[in-house]
Amino acid sequence: MSTHASAQPHVLISGAGPAGLALACALHDRGLRVRVLEQASEASLAAPPDDGREIALTHRSRRLLEQLGLWARIPEVSPLRRATVQSAGSRVPLPFESEGQDLGWLVANRYLRAAAFAGARERGIELLCGQRVSGFTRSDAMAELCTESGERHAAPLVVAADSRFSPLRRLAGIGARHRDFGRSALLVPLSHAQPHEGLAQECFLQGHTLALLPMPGQRCSAVWTVANHALPGIAAMDDAELAATIQQACGSRLGPMQVVGRRHIYPLVAVWAERFVGPRFALIGDAAVGMHPVTAHGYNLGLYGIEALARRLDPNTDPGALAPLLAYEAEHRREAGPIYTGTNALVRFFTDDRAPVLALRRAVIDVARHLPPLRAAITRKLVDAAA
Ligand SMILES: Cc1cc2nc3c(=O)[nH]c(=O)nc-3n(C[C@H](O)[C@H](O)[C@H](O)COP(=O)(O)OP(=O)(O)OC[C@H]3O[C@@H](n4cnc5c(N)ncnc54)[C@H](O)[C@@H]3O)c2cc1C
Repeated sequence: MSTHASAQPHVLISGAGPAGLALACALHDRGLRVRVLEQASEASLAAPPDDGREIALTHRSRRLLEQLGLWARIPEVSPLRRATVQSAGSRVPLPFESEGQDLGWLVANRYLRAAAFAGARERGIELLCGQRVSGFTRSDAMAELCTESGERHAAPLVVAADSRFSPLRRLAGIGARHRDFGRSALLVPLSHAQPHEGLAQECFLQGHTLALLPMPGQRCSAVWTVANHALPGIAAMDDAELAATIQQACGSRLGPMQVVGRRHIYPLVAVWAERFVGPRFALIGDAAVGMHPVTAHGYNLGLYGIEALARRLDPNTDPGALAPLLAYEAEHRREAGPIYTGTNALVRFFTDDRAPVLALRRAVIDVARHLPPLRAAITRKLVDAAA
């Protein structure tokens, strides 16, 4: 076994995803020494492959990314000017817009990842790639990570930012509630004949859900959520059939469509960790809360959690002391809890196709359409989510 030669960090982070790297930047800016261990190669972090995800970001997330100097590194952003929600059988969609400002912005996940990597590199943050974390121990004063290659790294605080299926969360003995929706999201980029004008459409149809998210130019990303048993049928479709099916499902509002990139499939499983902290240990990003993507909150919540944790740590006190960690946990649970529970309830309500529920859904959309204050309240939540 080898131990690492350079100065001992204040904080060790497992996982250089968008959450782990943004946290590393935030902690560095507060004067803490950070070391990040990541299983993937440096090349794949510097230029991440397209994973199909277009991440909707709130105004608050944008401000946090700006403070970290990461927003300016994103090469392409699509403004989200308006959104509509439609349920099977309702003729008129429910509109959301915010007078004089965008609802939010869509950014390809690979750009968020690359921006966070560049930000960490520019700060000189120690990033050890090709290192899969496989062991965790702790004493009163220190926590230690072991990697599969036999390296050992110690710090007063260890943070897991290693995805919703977090191996380190398990190693630390923290359980998590998993909610498997029995569905998967198929993501595919499409070009279309009509301009989208920054409109995001969410259609809750019978048996499936279709979201069309505006991308730069006359393109959108289709997020088609289907029951897992329907996936083989979709996989068998060629691109022309897939585009025609999506075009028909969204009422042809954007005109003829064409597939312009690869398909990506994500099984939908939401995760809520039973605790977000422990002695000399904290969870961040999807490792703490893994969201269903329908309300587009996963990374937004990750950034709010990073802000809440970083604000409580500084190099002049013990970064692994339990009291600030517990304060972070309380704040992040208070903020994420209602969004997590509300999103899961929304998914249940909008994917239950029994006749009375369908009728209720249509009624809810009709009522909301005639209640501008309710729509304005929802829009405010969309625009700035708990700022
Ligand atoms: C289809 C889809 C659409 C989405 N849309 C939105 C949206 O519109 N808005 C939004 O806010 N969010 C959205 N999200 C959520 C968002 O993508 C996630 O919240 C975000 O990517 C989580 O980042 P993370 O860094 O926590 O985890 P990850 O991105 O999963 O990164 C984890 C990192 O840890 C590394 N790792 C794992 N295990 C180990 C180990 N043992 N040792 C070392 N390293 C390890 C991995 O290699 C990886 O680099 C969406 C998600 C999906 C699936």
